[in-house]
Amino acid sequence: MEDSRETSQTVGRPVIGVRRLKEAMAKPRALRIFSVSNQKGGVGKTTTTVNIAAALAMGGLRTLVIDLDPQGNASTALGVEHQKNEGIYEVLMGSTSIASVVQKVAGFPHLECISSNTALAQAEINLVGMVARELRLKESLQELVEIRQAQGEGYDYILIDCPPSLGLLTVNALAAAQELLIPIQCEYYALEGLTQLLETYSIVKKRLNADLKLSTIVLTMFDGRTRLANDVAASVRTHFPTELIDIPIPRAVRISEAPSYGQTVMTYDPVSPGAIAYMQVAREIAERGKAFDSNVVSINYKKGESA
Ligand code: ADP
Ligand code: MG
Repeated sequence: MEDSRETSQTVGRPVIGVRRLKEAMAKPRALRIFSVSNQKGGVGKTTTTVNIAAALAMGGLRTLVIDLDPQGNASTALGVEHQKNEGIYEVLMGSTSIASVVQKVAGFPHLECISSNTALAQAEINLVGMVARELRLKESLQELVEIRQAQGEGYDYILIDCPPSLGLLTVNALAAAQELLIPIQCEYYALEGLTQLLETYSIVKKRLNADLKLSTIVLTMFDGRTRLANDVAASVRTHFPTELIDIPIPRAVRISEAPSYGQTVMTYDPVSPGAIAYMQVAREIAERGKAFDSNVVSINYKKGESA
């Protein structure tokens, strides 16, 4: 179980003070940028993005979440202002600078967010006619990363929460990232849907981003009592033995309640099973990051070594 400096908070109370773990997480050798993608809706992309990001930030790692879904669920879950503000849409359209839309996430000294807004839905159309339309996010992100590094405040992790499609927004995320993180919900057709995603992944890898690597798979909404969930997990384990983080996220009420309080489950109920699982997954990601090199991603995963 993880220790947090404040453990007295009751469920659902507003976030106050600073959240940090007693035991810091391993810093990656270099900045790691993840695209959290799956064209299926409701598989846990946003939940996984915000909770892993929150956990990494609590572990002392400088983390940025980019909300690339017009629905803005990641922004909501992190309690950042979105609909009224300029966000990633304006950055992609070139009407504002990326540095100007970065927001601090309350209660997390190391966590920041670039929000989305509903205008982002037009991006899929408006990007089509633009020069280097697949690389708009990458170029902006590079600018931000350099600014932060020059300030001595370089990011350790950037997580991009993708919309439920394989359109230009997701392609921009895959082009900007170094690693692909796929959340898989343990249900029927979970793997069938992957084929399309993996096709897009290989096209992007071939044409736009040779460094991209499918490095991480997280099992979400896992119900260990059902045979189906166990079968899906076993199948993922067989096909992706090194990519899979074998710490399934349980289906847990607290996880689904947290966003309506503008919180991640990490602050909403840090000792709940869902929060503990996400914390362990984040710690495992950080452990793998010790060996991470921007271009050569070498993963030496020994089970049971972390958390
Ligand atoms: P996506 O971003 O892929 O569309 P979400 O992360 O928004 O998926 O999750 C879909 C729904 O399932 C949300 O209502 C979310 O709160 C809920 N949910 C996600 N993970 C869990 C979980 N482990 N246990 C219970 N509910 C979950
Ligand atoms: Mg989502």
